[in-house]
Amino acid sequence: RAYNFNAGPAALPLEVLRQAQEEFVDYKGAGMSIMEMSHRSKAFEGVNDNTERLVRELLGVPDGYSVMLLQGGASTQFAMVPMNLLADGKTAAYVNSGSWAKKAIKEAKLIGETRVVASSEDARFTRMPDLAAVELPDNAAYLHLTSNETIEGTQLASFPNTGAVPLIADMSSDIMSRPLDIPSFGMIYAGAQKNLGPSGVTLVIVRDDLLEASRPGVPTMLRYDTHAKSKSLYNTPPSFAVYMVGLVLEWIRDKGGLEGIDRLNREKTGLIYSAIDGSGGFYRGVAESGSRSLMNVTFRLTSEELEKKFIQESEQAGFVGLKGHRDVGGLRASTYNAVPLESCQALAEFMAEFQRQNG
Ligand code: PLP
Repeated sequence: RAYNFNAGPAALPLEVLRQAQEEFVDYKGAGMSIMEMSHRSKAFEGVNDNTERLVRELLGVPDGYSVMLLQGGASTQFAMVPMNLLADGKTAAYVNSGSWAKKAIKEAKLIGETRVVASSEDARFTRMPDLAAVELPDNAAYLHLTSNETIEGTQLASFPNTGAVPLIADMSSDIMSRPLDIPSFGMIYAGAQKNLGPSGVTLVIVRDDLLEASRPGVPTMLRYDTHAKSKSLYNTPPSFAVYMVGLVLEWIRDKGGLEGIDRLNREKTGLIYSAIDGSGGFYRGVAESGSRSLMNVTFRLTSEELEKKFIQESEQAGFVGLKGHRDVGGLRASTYNAVPLESCQALAEFMAEFQRQNG
């Protein structure tokens, strides 16, 4: 298997792929694959329930929150959040932390009154904005933030207390990577294709009182209450992706849950950040130290030429996906949950060797 550092779709656990392969043609004696099954069948309902139950168990989602598995990616959530939750006369507050936050803000502006209450744009998004003393408008509908900026490689180490104002987080690139206190959020959403499974399904967790506040006039498919009431089976779901997410969540549970995964993730990125910090300036981390992501390690070399050479030689050595996002350049190693420790060890060794030859 390749050393897969892709940013998304990203690596899946080998054990999960093997189990899916085993069940692919004949799911538990049904005589057909999950993909060929009615989504109204008992067997698929079992799969759907299992995935939801594991989300609740691993994240500690209390009663009073709905868990939904939707389509349209996190990008559709950028629009659905304000469509449902930004009532007339209210202001949506946003944290501008980077490329993905900007996309969320752009959609909110299409829907209603939107205000950026904290930004790190002046630091070229090399850190997360300081949210300790963030001030919200009196009529704030919610505060939206991005917990991990996938492109810049920054991550929030902690979350602000927003009191009665619902806190909404795009956790697409760090969901299920560390323990979370769900009751401090009004809503969380995440595309599956980094830490949860294949693309095609989006996890949405919403506090029930917010569902009830849905704006009138929102089309049926774009309303949270539609999907909450029908347990994500209002229309045909992305059934194979929902099944795969269930297998990935079982794998996370068997790794010691979110505490176990968090420990492993710290060990993994620790190897790469150490290679950067110990290089005497040959490698330079992009994110400021307090904002460094445990999911996307972004770094530079001393010239773009050397970066090109690094990418070329890394590909020859079996590494995939180390090129930085086209908007920012440089290098990026995405070390999501399913990336094995051995891949990160191999990368740290490759980095040291590349420095020996080019430093
Ligand atoms: N938000 C973040 C933080 C992301 O990293 C991404 C995708 O990379 C998205 C949103 C968009 O997700 P999707 O492609 O599922 O719409």
